[in-house]
Amino acid sequence: MTTKDTKNIPSLAAEQAIKVQADLPKHVQLVVVSKTQPIPNITPLYDAGFRHFGENRADDLRHKYEQMPKDIQWHMIGHLQTNKVPIISPFVHLIHSVDSHKLLLKINQAGSACQRRINVLLQVKISPDDTKYGLSEAALQAIIEDEKVAELRYIRIIGLMGMASLTQDATQTQREFNQLNKLFETYKSRPHPTITMQVLSMGMSGDYPIALQQGSNMVRVGSAIFAPPV
Ligand SMILES: *Cc1c(COP(=O)(O)O)cnc(C)c1O
Repeated sequence: MTTKDTKNIPSLAAEQAIKVQADLPKHVQLVVVSKTQPIPNITPLYDAGFRHFGENRADDLRHKYEQMPKDIQWHMIGHLQTNKVPIISPFVHLIHSVDSHKLLLKINQAGSACQRRINVLLQVKISPDDTKYGLSEAALQAIIEDEKVAELRYIRIIGLMGMASLTQDATQTQREFNQLNKLFETYKSRPHPTITMQVLSMGMSGDYPIALQQGSNMVRVGSAIFAPPV
């Protein structure tokens, strides 16, 4: 089958992504979370015009980057080990999951090696849930106020990312997203030589409407697009 033929196959995922997109205000970027999806499942979304895709494993991100059209903006959304940074540094559009000073230094080093300034978000832990990665508020502040971080020439810190608790309690989700939004607004209003708070990445399939109310301007949606409708 040629690529031309696949364009005409109606894809449920593309239809669902179009519905999610229709829910979003114009200034909000949708990142289609394509993790665990094989390339033939992702192609219909590309053909429907989607260009921002997110993966949570560096090796998968690299593989899909190599196999798919080069105008895709690839987002790394999952926990990133320092030894995996060079796998994605030559092409990644945005790393959402920077949760340590050590990782920041490693990304800067990898950026230097490929002569690219790499866009990153600092991931903040807003959920008491033990399984969630992220910086504490104190660790976030320490990174932002670190003069050596401001001098790193191959990274560009452009915002914050967070994941809310897995809960049915909407007020808790709201509270957690609100906490992140407050941090975002606080740092956004403070002049900084190199950090510009532009992106607030929060909201997934189950909670993006709440995230939007709390000021998100980037949502990462997977299962609401790829899972069959219930
Ligand atoms: C998997 C994942 C998502 C998407 O989750 P869904 O519930 O499938 O929409 C978003 N962000 C991160 C960090 C993820 O790992």
